[in-house]
Amino acid sequence: MTAERIDGKAFAALLRERVGALATQFEHKAGRKAGLAVVLVGEDPASQVYVRSKHKATVAAGMESFEHRLPADTSEADLLALVEQLNADEAVDGILVQLPLPGHLDDQAVIAAISPDKDVDGFHVTNAGRLAVGQSGFVPCTPLGCMMLLTDRLGDLSGLEAVVIGRSNIVGKPMAQLLLDANATVTIAHSRTKDLPGVVKRADIVVAAVGRAEMVKAEWLKDGATVIDVGINRLPPAEGEEKGRLVGDVDYAGAEGVASAITPVPGGVGPMTIAVLLRNTLVAAYRNAGLAVPE
Ligand code: NDP
Repeated sequence: MTAERIDGKAFAALLRERVGALATQFEHKAGRKAGLAVVLVGEDPASQVYVRSKHKATVAAGMESFEHRLPADTSEADLLALVEQLNADEAVDGILVQLPLPGHLDDQAVIAAISPDKDVDGFHVTNAGRLAVGQSGFVPCTPLGCMMLLTDRLGDLSGLEAVVIGRSNIVGKPMAQLLLDANATVTIAHSRTKDLPGVVKRADIVVAAVGRAEMVKAEWLKDGATVIDVGINRLPPAEGEEKGRLVGDVDYAGAEGVASAITPVPGGVGPMTIAVLLRNTLVAAYRNAGLAVPE
């Protein structure tokens, strides 16, 4: 069997197009553009790349992008004051504070200060709670993107065995909640799980969100499983390479021979994250403007 490659890049492009069309409709109805504010503290190179690509994607989707770049030594009081100002700003529908923050700032305190109705990353405890009890709120972008790829491919997930490897608040836990909501039978595995290969073997759906290069082996997988690889890991450079290759948490080449479908790295889950962020921002805009959210 050669697994079908789940093309997250193409799916994300379609989603961005749809968000763009709805953003135009929003502008006509509300008399203003939907707006996303992104706050970056310090000069972490990876964060700078993410913030730049979020800005570009937001503008390309016909939304307003407000960038706030603060020096690395910004005090928590100043950062919280900026968040308060953005909470009150009617042109701002979504607020995203790029993590991780420099060490002297408390990520949780800053996230807690964001209005839950503008928390388009879905990291605020209110939104985590809403997801846990099945109320509508904002769901973290990466797991929501994974869920879109899964339902697009499999349709009804009811009764399927799903194993999520990883239990972080931003990927593993919300992923498990979404799968549970979709009536899958869900197991969450982590670093203390005994016999991980045996646990994974039961799964019709495997979501790997660990951060360990090619940890999940072909022989762990059930025949025909659908595999969503969230991991982004850079291998050490091979001879003659300047930078090492990017790989996921799953041994793609091996898994291709066992799975029925699998997301590649890069080009699978990664592109979905920003597309879902734009979608969440648009949903926030409709809600904040008191308009019905289009399907
Ligand atoms: P975290 O480091 O927060 O969580 C990793 C999880 O993996 C933990 O729950 C940990 O268990 C578990 N784990 C670690 N080692 C093992 C092991 N040997 N066996 C089983 N489980 C293990 O990572 P994130 O959730 O933030 O991210 C996971 C991966 O996804 C990373 O590669 C990250 O780069 C990528 N990512 C990609 C995104 C995208 O595509 N846009 C967005 C976000 C993340 P324990 O809790 O017991 O320590």
